[in-house]
Amino acid sequence: MKNQAEQLIDMARRLLELGLNKGTSGNCSVRLDDGFLVTPSGMGADEMTPRSMVFMDFQGNAEPGKKPSSEWRFHHDILKNRPEIGAVIHTHSMFATTLACLHQEIPPFHYMIALAGGDTIRCAPYALFGTQELSDLAMDALYERKACLLANHGMIALGKDLEDALAVAVEVENLCEQYWRLLQINANLPLLSEAQMREVFRQFKGYGKWGQP
Ligand code: 13P
Ligand code: ZN
Repeated sequence: MKNQAEQLIDMARRLLELGLNKGTSGNCSVRLDDGFLVTPSGMGADEMTPRSMVFMDFQGNAEPGKKPSSEWRFHHDILKNRPEIGAVIHTHSMFATTLACLHQEIPPFHYMIALAGGDTIRCAPYALFGTQELSDLAMDALYERKACLLANHGMIALGKDLEDALAVAVEVENLCEQYWRLLQINANLPLLSEAQMREVFRQFKGYGKWGQP
């Protein structure tokens, strides 16, 4: 069984392999008992070793001598305030980022939107990367949700563990690609109604991993 530092590197590498992140873009974190591990700042997944992972506590203190991701604030704020969440993934993936650059909230054009926890995938307003302002805006956009876009930046996906967060990130990117393609054809899309989305939530309760909180 791999330890959590190894599992976190594996996830950073998978995000590169899947094309969800490139170079040093994006980061991820996983909850520990008394804090969390987050990927280091400005380092490509290929250069990372288990020792490069940075332990942080819930007072915002990082392990001495190590530089946590510049986005440690939103990793910290999410894991501190959302006890049901065990892992956070941030990507600059192509289609989520394209729509985020349009400040585009994703409407219920497809029932799988429900996987993010609501009728839409919200887009947080723009704030400078690595700031508390960005974290505060992201926390609002993630309220009772498992994913959001970040304007002019990328997306955040949450899960009860790393695998779950990855499944959300992959599906959000998929939905963003579908929506982007649809926008090329027709900007006036037939959307699912509130009642239809409520039905989807009920149906999801008994369906695989999406059925859990
Ligand atoms: P880090 O290399 O500091 O994690 O930053 C990457 C990023 O995506 C900033 O938003
Ligand atoms: Zn980023």
